[in-house]
Amino acid sequence: MKISHSHKIDALNRVLIPKELLRKLGWKRGDTLSLCYDEAAVKTLSLHLLAEYTEPKCFYCKRVDIEITINRKAVCADCLEKALEKL
Ligand SMILES: [Zn+2]
Repeated sequence: MKISHSHKIDALNRVLIPKELLRKLGWKRGDTLSLCYDEAAVKTLSLHLLAEYTEPKCFYCKRVDIEITINRKAVCADCLEKALEKL
């Protein structure tokens, strides 16, 4: 299915994305979009939803002050110390 809308760029260089398209795309107010311009694709601009950034959290306690990453698992200083005590 192809949907086409026409909207003018307003005085602040903004373009409206119709609600219908937002719903179909699963985008919502506050989402961050990436604008991609490729010179090879003449006069075309692509919009992509950026994946939500999530700060790495400790695998054990979910704190965000990560001390080390072991086998792709982030670990905070306290949990690292507890783990070392058990060795
Ligand atoms: Zn922890």
